[in-house]
Amino acid sequence: MTPQTASPIVKGWCPGALRPMMSGDGYLVRIRPPMGRLSMRQASGVAALSARFGSGLIDLSARANLQLRGVAEPALGDVQDGLRDLGLLDSDPAAESRRNLVISPFWTTGDLTQRIALDLQAALVDAVDLDLPGKFGFAVDCGAAPLLRETSADIRIERGRDGLICRADGAGEGCAVNADTAVTVALDMARWFRTGTEKRMARLVRPLPHRFKGAEARPAGTVDRTGLAGFAFGRIRAEVLAALGTVRLTPWRMLLVEGGVVPDHPDILRPDDPVLRVSACPGAPDCAQGLVATREVAKALAGALPPGKGLHVSGCAKGCAHPRPQDYTLTGQSGGRFVLIRNGCAGDAPVRSDLDPCALIAAPHELFEG
Ligand code: SF4
Repeated sequence: MTPQTASPIVKGWCPGALRPMMSGDGYLVRIRPPMGRLSMRQASGVAALSARFGSGLIDLSARANLQLRGVAEPALGDVQDGLRDLGLLDSDPAAESRRNLVISPFWTTGDLTQRIALDLQAALVDAVDLDLPGKFGFAVDCGAAPLLRETSADIRIERGRDGLICRADGAGEGCAVNADTAVTVALDMARWFRTGTEKRMARLVRPLPHRFKGAEARPAGTVDRTGLAGFAFGRIRAEVLAALGTVRLTPWRMLLVEGGVVPDHPDILRPDDPVLRVSACPGAPDCAQGLVATREVAKALAGALPPGKGLHVSGCAKGCAHPRPQDYTLTGQSGGRFVLIRNGCAGDAPVRSDLDPCALIAAPHELFEG
């Protein structure tokens, strides 16, 4: 077995379909469906590719992407050909990397979210001069109130107090825009960002130019969960994806079933299922950096989680499946044990250490007591 260290490897780039990433269970092929939507044909096509060339397991990411797992290297070309036939492959890896946007899944035909997202997708593909850091992304969230506040994004086009705004992540105000100007302003903001050395907008150490301010943000809204189909830890089996029909991807590791009728299936969780308050990255052995297996522990702890609280179980300190603070975070350490972090992220200072996975599974309530 490969020796593991406690320090995660920071790759600084995100995998895609044209730039797959090697993981513990084979290649991970990340698909960014245009408009975050898979037609029935695309969903069953992706499911067929996963079953034939991968492990038959597909992960839903926190940025509303799909990840085919366990693809063998000789099959990568077949998977890419299949995705191209389904209209799910970009023209080149740089365009794929730039087209990093999360779209509110509740858009309707002709509404502001759809119009702006379509324009932004096309503009990002065309912006060949725009060399953004690997994880830099956009959110288009123009419904009655913002719903993507908890989703990682650097530039947000969203509903402000008095109309649409384009806002730098972390800023309390943005700049007033409309359907015709939003994309131009977003790209102007991205180009200004590249004049510095920061990797993410939220870590900005320079003042924002005046032109990106002046319009107040609006408080976040509440997600209507009708039509949402949840999956434990965001993992879906290929045959279940194929049975759902046309779906939209969400950043909540749930799929929105178009038409609103969620089929009864043992793998599909209702939106109030406590397991959906628990996230877990693939961990060991699926992820090559995983120091501990995560999902068995996460499943055991889900039933003991106090009401209204959330738990993340991370295979290492990188915390890539939940980069934001959580009520409880268990982080794997070398030696196969966990540490517990309260109200923080996977790499933050722990309040407890040396937690044995078997003991957590045997007595899950004990973690949340005291
Ligand atoms: S956080 Fe999880 S998925 Fe990310 S590198 Fe660590 S073990 Fe792998």
